[in-house]
Amino acid sequence: MVAVSKTFGVEHVRAAAAAGQRDFGENRVQEAVDKMAALADLPLNWHFIGHLQSNKARKAGASFAVIHSIDSVDLLQRVDRAALEAGVSPEGLVQVDLAGEATKFGAELPHLRDIFTASSTCRALRIVGLMLLPPFSEDPEATRPYFVRLRNLQQDLLTDGVDPASVCQLSMGMSHDYEVAVQEGATIVRVGTAIFGRRSKQ
Ligand SMILES: *Cc1c(COP(=O)(O)O)cnc(C)c1O
Repeated sequence: MVAVSKTFGVEHVRAAAAAGQRDFGENRVQEAVDKMAALADLPLNWHFIGHLQSNKARKAGASFAVIHSIDSVDLLQRVDRAALEAGVSPEGLVQVDLAGEATKFGAELPHLRDIFTASSTCRALRIVGLMLLPPFSEDPEATRPYFVRLRNLQQDLLTDGVDPASVCQLSMGMSHDYEVAVQEGATIVRVGTAIFGRRSKQ
C-alpha cells in the first residue's frame, strides 16, 4: 500500500512512518523532493503518482523509488537517462488510459507495445507493471470493469511475449475502491484520504 501524502505536511508522514508505513505517494515533484529532504532520517520509499511533465523527468528520475506515470517512450527514456546519471535504479509503471479521456493522462493502447519494447533498452529504470487511474465514480462497482480490463491487458501483454518481470505489478485502487481493486488483482493500492483525511486543496 502506498500512503498518498500529497498536500499533507511532513508531520503526517512521520506519524504514518511511526506506525510502520514505508511507501508514500506524491503527485508534485518539488513538494515531494522537499519532503524527502525533511524526512531523510527515515527509510522511506517515495512513489511519484502524478502526471510527469518532461521538464520534471530529470528530477523525478533521480529522486523517486517508483514512478507510476510513465506514459510515452520519450518520458521513459528521459527518466532512464536521469536515473543513470544519478546512479539510481528506480522502478517504473506504465500508466494506461483505458477510457480514452482527453483530460486524463496515460498511454493509449496502441502505444503500449512501443513503450514495452523501448523499456528493454533501459539501463537504469526497470519497468515492473501497469498503473490505472480510472474515471472517478462514487460507486466502486462502476470502476470494477476498468480493474478487470487492466488485468486482462496484463494477460494480453504476457501472451504477446512481454517479459513477465515488466508487467508483474498492477497499481490500481484508491480510498473508496481499493477493496474492489484488490479483488480484481491489484498488487499496489494508492490510498490517501482513508489514511490522512480529506485534503483541503487539489
Ligand atoms: C490523490 C491520488 C490518489 C489517492 O486518492 P484518495 O482518494 O485520497 O485515496 C491515488 N492515486 C492518484 C494517482 C492520486 O492522484
